[in-house]
Amino acid sequence: MKLVPRYTDIGEGFAISDHPAKVTAPQLLLWNEPLAEQFNIQVNADSRANIFSGNELQAVSAVALGYSGHQFGHFSPRLGDGRAHLLGAISDDKNQLWDLQLKGAGATPFSRGGDGRCALGPAIREYVMSEAMHALGIPTTRCLAVVGSGETVYRNPPQPGAIVTRLASSHIRVGSFQYLATQGDLTSLKNLADLAIQRHYPEINSTGAQRYLDFLAAVITNQVNLVVSWMRVGFIHGVMNTDNTLISGETIDYGPCAMMNQFDFDTVFSSIDKQGRYAFGNQPNMASWNCARLAESLMALISDDDEQAVAMLTPIIADFSTQFNQQFSAMWAQKLGLTIADDKDNELVGELLGLLKEHQLDYTNTFNALTESLNGQAEIPSALTSWAQQWQTRTNEHSYQVMRQANPSVIPRNHIIEDIITQYTTYGDSELLSRFSKVMSSPYTSHAQATDFQTPPEDDKNYRTFCGT
Ligand code: AMP
Ligand code: MG
Ligand code: MG
Repeated sequence: MKLVPRYTDIGEGFAISDHPAKVTAPQLLLWNEPLAEQFNIQVNADSRANIFSGNELQAVSAVALGYSGHQFGHFSPRLGDGRAHLLGAISDDKNQLWDLQLKGAGATPFSRGGDGRCALGPAIREYVMSEAMHALGIPTTRCLAVVGSGETVYRNPPQPGAIVTRLASSHIRVGSFQYLATQGDLTSLKNLADLAIQRHYPEINSTGAQRYLDFLAAVITNQVNLVVSWMRVGFIHGVMNTDNTLISGETIDYGPCAMMNQFDFDTVFSSIDKQGRYAFGNQPNMASWNCARLAESLMALISDDDEQAVAMLTPIIADFSTQFNQQFSAMWAQKLGLTIADDKDNELVGELLGLLKEHQLDYTNTFNALTESLNGQAEIPSALTSWAQQWQTRTNEHSYQVMRQANPSVIPRNHIIEDIITQYTTYGDSELLSRFSKVMSSPYTSHAQATDFQTPPEDDKNYRTFCGT
């Protein structure tokens, strides 16, 4: 495993050298073999626990990164990696560099009183959820390993500790730019923007102010795509703070996320999201708000060079909504197999969503049933019979294929994830985890046999998620 240093040349204070703290009895619990193969990580089985707990340090320069964050709208200038160590970057089979990070490997200069540790339950949750998102074709950070630390972490109640190995195309967040902009460190800000462009948007070849305007526009396009893909499968991130928004457009931070069962734009599960700021249907607004915070942070790079360029920021941010509306309509058209656009499409979708909400129908299962109804393999829910007569006149021989690729038959339902975690952490039993992971690895097939993963819970009104620690 060859690691190269990353972020060490951005500027002073951005990447602070810090070593993971050793743990007493590391034990490899989960290992993602396909991902290891993709990165050609050939670490023999006996060494994995030691390496991916941080006990045996492979890194030339482990660092903790600084970042700020608007958390539920309130600005914290100094958050940073309080429980994560970036060991460096690793090359994949296409010669792209990815960040390799240990999460839960001890306190860092950014810990602010936290213990820098991670409990086993949230570690398993991150592993299973991020791999499910990957299988659903949604950009996400990945998990290579979960290693038990052999130590107790003092949460309420106390839990076994674990270390997650996370791979991300980068850990550059909106909050990373806020961190440097807040300090007025323009040199580092420019270095970071140039690194982000080189890594994620190499097609940008403009110069001066235009370069950073193009960067902002590219980030916006990726955020639009991300939120649309979340909404396509019913994913609720739960904590879309600016420190949890990656410039690459990947999903990061699986702490309080949840999947929607019954369709309702107002769905919220996070225990701390009292106002519904990050409700299912509010996600595009929040992603757009986060992009506006990025624009503010880039302002210094833009105005320095060209005052007229500043005037371009507003239309670029406003374009979030334009792009979102287009992509959102296209998403519903795919979910309904409407391959030829029609003026009445919006009405057809609106009526369906109204019926879903009124009759408290399950989002995933309804679209799956509509899909399979075209094959004669499923019944259309009775509440939709009359609506479906209209819809059927709009489908054609391509519809099934288009719908099958847009509508999963299986998603990582909240109660299944909770069961997996309980089985694993209480009884050390990974049978459910294995069985679910196998089904979840191909979500866009009919999976008629996987009914125990498809049935929604009787009632999830009281389900609550927590910023996993
Ligand atoms: P997150 O929940 O991952 O978005 O974290 C928000 C902030 O709290 C980040 O700065 C984290 O590094 C920090 N943090 C979360 N949990 C811990 C912990 N157990 N110890 C130290 N810092 C933490
Ligand atoms: Mg976070
Ligand atoms: Mg978190």
